Amino acid sequence: MAGYQVLNPATGKVESEFPRATDAEVREAIDLAHNTYSSWRNTALDERVAIIKRVAELYRERRGELTEIIAREMGKPIRQGAGEIGISADIFDYYADNAAEFLKEEELTVASGGRAVVRMAPTGVILGIMPWNYPYYQVARFAAPNLLLGNTIVLKHASNCPESAQAIAKIFEDAGLPEGAYVNIFASSSQVPSIIEDPRVQGVSLTGSEPAGRSVAEVAGRNLKKCVLELGGSDPFLVLSTEDVKAAAKVAVGGRMANGGQACNASKRVIEYYEEFVQAYVERMQLFTPGDPLDSGTRFGPLSSAGAVDELVELVEDAVGKGANLLLGGQRIEPAEAGLGAEWADGAWMQPTVLTDITPEMRIYREEAFGPVASIYRVADEAAAIRLANDSPFGLGSSVITNDEAQANRVADQIEAGMVYINSAGESEPDLPFGGVKSSGIGRELGRFGMEEFANRKLVRWS
Ligand code: NDP
Repeated sequence: MAGYQVLNPATGKVESEFPRATDAEVREAIDLAHNTYSSWRNTALDERVAIIKRVAELYRERRGELTEIIAREMGKPIRQGAGEIGISADIFDYYADNAAEFLKEEELTVASGGRAVVRMAPTGVILGIMPWNYPYYQVARFAAPNLLLGNTIVLKHASNCPESAQAIAKIFEDAGLPEGAYVNIFASSSQVPSIIEDPRVQGVSLTGSEPAGRSVAEVAGRNLKKCVLELGGSDPFLVLSTEDVKAAAKVAVGGRMANGGQACNASKRVIEYYEEFVQAYVERMQLFTPGDPLDSGTRFGPLSSAGAVDELVELVEDAVGKGANLLLGGQRIEPAEAGLGAEWADGAWMQPTVLTDITPEMRIYREEAFGPVASIYRVADEAAAIRLANDSPFGLGSSVITNDEAQANRVADQIEAGMVYINSAGESEPDLPFGGVKSSGIGRELGRFGMEEFANRKLVRWS
């Protein structure tokens, strides 16, 4: 792709294009963010809070226009887009409401006597690199805590999300954020190393794929810069003790299919031992029929790109070629056959897909399926379920369906994941930490933890 562009994945048509930033423009963006840092960090907290509260209001006021943008950019149905705007606004409110508490200086007990405190100080310009799957939410959870802390931000959004990137920058501007506190830049990923290397940039936060995370972490490490990485996941969904298999299947499908299956913390691997489960799961998956993302009744839109559909079809073909059982889907949806009009003929449509009998030789056993493709594993008992859940390079979220509290606690302790949800599919909330272990990343976002990542916990000691 030459520059940033909106290529509507429902129609396959390019709707808008934006030139990439030149190297000089990238330098100017850092200059601006750096120059603003000295005043922004000294702006009274009340003033910063008032601006961030206004940001939350503007998200809600502009909900219609914001949802329409991402429906065209990455195919998110407007009903789901409205949910994303809601949580984004809630995140800004949450940090604004709690900033004073989170930034309060902490008195330490000193063995040798005297007084010592830790103060949460900002560190400077932080680079944010964000993905297309939740264009507003991903930025909110990075920007809200950092701006309230007093850091300034240079933001490189995904190259297929230029309009939402601009809409976010405009909200900050209209809310009264000083110029330079949040600088949107249409940089390419090849310009990212030079930004991280710049001595004025103090850290980098990336949400995206594992390869992107590795490459950013490498540059950050070489330059001794702090990084937060929120990467992929292949979250296990363990169905262990239930009297209502159909209800468990409904929750599992909900966890798999949110955002068309394009979520890092989707319930991608179901692990269970109930005879009737698979049928119940397939029946729920069949309810997802594709539709126009701009129609308020649609709950299943196109994937983000035709390339994403091709990758998933390849992943499924690899599994089926090695003996997996394909119970549903597995192919691109042919729009005419699905009753979609001619304008959708070139869209990135993918069938809801269910695979069973997956073995470790298949790519899908280890790789993340970033779309509506579910893997169901049948195991003999709880111990086998835990072993399988942990046999993954990823460790983001997980779910455990159980009506046995002791089992819930036991399994939660043994699962290698950053998050364990008992009797629900993982859903992000402003006040709860979000992040993973293993190849799912480093660090935490949201809650008070999200405010600590790029803070200087500064010791002040009186003798
Ligand atoms: P990428 O990781 O490629 O993109 C995410 C962001 O990182 C974009 O802004 C992208 O820029 C940037 N980026 C990509 N490569 C580099 C690099 N080497 N150095 C610095 N920045 C980089 O994700 P994709 O959009 O291509 O999605 C592919 C896969 O990523 C998915 O299948 C899924 O596995 C994972 N993913 C995970 C997400 C999550 O929430 N954890 C979200 C989205 C994707 P640009 O757009 O300019 O390439």
